[in-house]
Amino acid sequence: MRSSPRLLALCAPLLTGGVYFLVSSLSLMMSRFEGGIAFIWGANAFLMAELLTSPRAHWLRAIMACALASAVSTTLFGFGPVAAFPMMLLNIAESLGVAIICRHYASGRNIMVSLVPLAVFVAALCGVNALVGTGAALTASFFVSLPFSASWLQWWSGHVLGGLICAPVLVMLMQGEWARWFGAVSRRAKLETLGLLLLLGVTSWYIFSQDHYPLLFMPLLPLVMISFRAGHHGAAASIVVLAIIGGASAALSHGYLSTIAASPGAKTQFFQIYLAFSFFLSLPVAAELNGRRRLFQMLRDSEARYRIIAEHCGDMVLNLGVDGRIHYASPSVLEQIGCAPDLLMDQPAADLIHPKDRALMTATCRRALEQPQDIHRAEFRLFRAIDDLEWHEMVARAVIDEQDGPTGIVCTIRDMSRHKAQQQALQQAASQDSLTGAASRSAFLERLETEIGRVAGDNRSCLLLLDLDHFKAVNDCYGHAAGDRVLGAFVERLKPGLRSRDCIGRLGGEEFAILLADLDIHRASAVCERLRRMVAGEPVPLDTGQSVTVTFSAGLVELDGASEAGAMLEAADKALYRAKNSGRNCLRLAA
Ligand code: GH3
Ligand code: MG
Ligand code: MG
Repeated sequence: MRSSPRLLALCAPLLTGGVYFLVSSLSLMMSRFEGGIAFIWGANAFLMAELLTSPRAHWLRAIMACALASAVSTTLFGFGPVAAFPMMLLNIAESLGVAIICRHYASGRNIMVSLVPLAVFVAALCGVNALVGTGAALTASFFVSLPFSASWLQWWSGHVLGGLICAPVLVMLMQGEWARWFGAVSRRAKLETLGLLLLLGVTSWYIFSQDHYPLLFMPLLPLVMISFRAGHHGAAASIVVLAIIGGASAALSHGYLSTIAASPGAKTQFFQIYLAFSFFLSLPVAAELNGRRRLFQMLRDSEARYRIIAEHCGDMVLNLGVDGRIHYASPSVLEQIGCAPDLLMDQPAADLIHPKDRALMTATCRRALEQPQDIHRAEFRLFRAIDDLEWHEMVARAVIDEQDGPTGIVCTIRDMSRHKAQQQALQQAASQDSLTGAASRSAFLERLETEIGRVAGDNRSCLLLLDLDHFKAVNDCYGHAAGDRVLGAFVERLKPGLRSRDCIGRLGGEEFAILLADLDIHRASAVCERLRRMVAGEPVPLDTGQSVTVTFSAGLVELDGASEAGAMLEAADKALYRAKNSGRNCLRLAA
């Protein structure tokens, strides 16, 4: 078992070289007329297929094997030992050049499967042989004194046609495509392909064996039929059938080809051109069909995915025409708007929208059609029998055709009411202190900024900073939970003494701030005194049945429209500090 990779490494180049030697020798023996360059050359197609399908690490051994085979066959059956080396170099250059171009521009894809790799292969074959053919013609004129232009044409046509006919079939063979095809298709499809190939075989045998009429067009019909029914596998097999039957008739000089009044070389060239035309008739058609078949399969997958999403998601999915009428409505419309999807067919989608928002919806659809690459969103209310105003979000995108022109719109419509309620709850949570119900620090500071902006005009407002006195002792005596309860009760007790335009916020711990809007410092002091008496006058009852009396110290500052919120807070804090130092439970005004 351990020796098998080594054995393979030894056998593979032997096999490659052997096949190359056999094919090239046969070509030289059978298609070298009048001592010139061979008219048929399929050997390089074999090396090309090998290079196209094997890893780069195996290239060197394949090239070495074929180089040796080429040199030996040229020595024995071609121009002789003197020209063996340059001919060997040219053969390798052709195969290597085509393989490198195809690998680079068609990146490992099967050259039979789609049009672009096939086109790259044909272009590479023609271009590389134009260059290499020049070298071959120079070699032929230098070593065996043959005319340059005839040699160039013989090389170019023989090698291009040989490559076209053999390489794609060999690539498929080496990639195991035939075996895969055989395992994948149904028995019926196999029998159908076999039947069509038989029809092609019989037709071509007939037209090549008779010598009365020019019937070479006849095999084209089964050829095209096979390409349509059996794809590139059938097309490649057809070329092989045609090449074998026509080639045998040409080699035996019998049948229709023998009636052509031309040299054997010209007859061979004619037959190769006939095969090349058959190739260009069937393989591109098969490649294009193959591409379409793949596209169709992708479309079916995508359709299945889309259906399952559209039919089982809670959002409404609508397909609209360019005129805004509904072409498809998902089952969820029944749940969302209480209308069966069938009843909506061909109705204008705008009819589903609240009259106030229809213009917005129409504008969004128009934008989607004008900018088909983008996704467009809009929020609107639906028009329902029950008059609730729940918000919905529409996400719309145009469907485009092959020329990128819009053919309709696909949109999803999502009920946003729950989302909006969640948003509101979050906003509220962020703006309110959860323990006391006072405004949060950030919300209060925002309000303070706004108020400072307002007093920059002619209004007068005050900022009152409060801090509970000896609150630590409350916690220490009655526990933290009791302290929490006192904080909540403290705010509740302050609220009746404030107006709706005033705002109380918790800045942190047991420190609060009140914005007293539209009051000058004298009236604000009076309000503060009232609040202080309200709080101190009545003890807060605790769950334990006990009660606790709390007081607060306060600092008051009148807002200055030219100052910042931070400066105002600092001024109030200094006043508060003085109140604490003055024995607590009192108010001090900012200096
Ligand atoms: P002072 O008169 O000097 O303000 O005395 P004080 O005890 O109120 O001042 P201090 O800043 O030393 O203590 C504040 C206390 O408030 C300490 C802390 O345990 C308590 N406190 C802060 N936040 C909370 C709260 O959310 N719940 C409870 N129960 N206590 C809190
Ligand atoms: Mg404090
Ligand atoms: Mg305190």
